[in-house]
Amino acid sequence: MNIHEYQAAEILKRHGIPINTGIVATTPDEVAAAAEQLGGTVVVKAQVHTGGRGKAGGVKLAGSPAEAREVASRILGMDIRGHTVHKVLVAPAVPIEREYYLGVVIDRAARGITIMGSSAGGVDIEEVARETPEQIHRELADPFLGLHDFQARRLAFALGIEPDLVPGFARLARQLYQAFFDSDASLAEINPLVLTKDRAWLALDSKITIDDSALVRHPDLEQLRDLQEENPTEMAARAAGLSFVKLDGTIGCVVNGAGLSMATMDAIKHYGGEPANFLDVGGGASAEQVETALRLVLADPNVRAVLVNIFGGITRCDVVAQGLLAAMEAIKPTVPFVIRLVGTNQEAGRAMLAEAGLTVVDTMPEAAQRVVAAAKGAAA
Ligand code: GDP
Ligand code: MN
Repeated sequence: MNIHEYQAAEILKRHGIPINTGIVATTPDEVAAAAEQLGGTVVVKAQVHTGGRGKAGGVKLAGSPAEAREVASRILGMDIRGHTVHKVLVAPAVPIEREYYLGVVIDRAARGITIMGSSAGGVDIEEVARETPEQIHRELADPFLGLHDFQARRLAFALGIEPDLVPGFARLARQLYQAFFDSDASLAEINPLVLTKDRAWLALDSKITIDDSALVRHPDLEQLRDLQEENPTEMAARAAGLSFVKLDGTIGCVVNGAGLSMATMDAIKHYGGEPANFLDVGGGASAEQVETALRLVLADPNVRAVLVNIFGGITRCDVVAQGLLAAMEAIKPTVPFVIRLVGTNQEAGRAMLAEAGLTVVDTMPEAAQRVVAAAKGAAA
């Protein structure tokens, strides 16, 4: 789950990190009032669940309440990479000496938590990673031991931070690590982390992504969910207990089990297709779940063909076939389907589907090849 900058900043503040406290506003008048209250030059920042707001014109300085109102009227309602701006954060403008990047992520390959820092902060860090990877420095923390002070200091020295500023940086890095850890985050980053003109550290923009599977442990963080930012299909899937991720391709996938779902997507790509979604209907794959899943997948106008790939382990294939037939009867899909159904009672299940005129295939490669061809045929 993603949260807004101002919410992430609150979490960092609770962990002792100095932030640029501002006021959230939803109308130009509220922005003008906030600017009046703060006094001096302010920065007006779009609050949307995407980065690169600065480049898109979603971060602007304003020298007076009138200018803040004017700037806000342009930012509110703006579209930034498919996200409509409903809220802005108004904060005092900070005189910046230098901008750094500081981020904490789960590093699956290293089986630990990686802390990344760069003196090329402020800009798009993915671009830095691509073009000048030597400008990114890393420390790997053992999740049982945390980020040691010597590691935080070693990172500071790698970034060329002057000795008198190192203790403050190291403290902040460890606080960020702790904020990440305590929130069950998959990402916590400050970009830019600035050194102000009066040589103080300040988190000027922060982002935290919380692991959805850990939200049960954090009812307070669950409260931060912004429904306006959520994909409606993903919300409906969550309510139905399905795990669904919308993608950009043309082949809808209805699969049981996360591993089989991933393998199915790989197979589709291998044969030149693009999956329209990740969807795990769960190990049980009950008739109702299959119907809900089909509805979710078919709601996407990009879908040109659907691949149903079910392994009947806990549920019997004949029961799944029955559910599938009932769902198709109710929905009457207009795009071609390819079905692979294997496991317990597969003969009975397949016979039912074949009788209804549906294509049932044996292997993953065959299923993937057929659905890719079907999607291309339907698209032509
Ligand atoms: P992002 O583009 O979505 O990452 O938004 P940021 O909040 O990081 O802002 C982008 C850039 O705007 C920063 O890297 C700064 O250079 C600039 N900026 C943001 N806030 C301030 C501020 O208070 N003072 C000054 N001088 N620049 C700011
Ligand atoms: Mn930023």
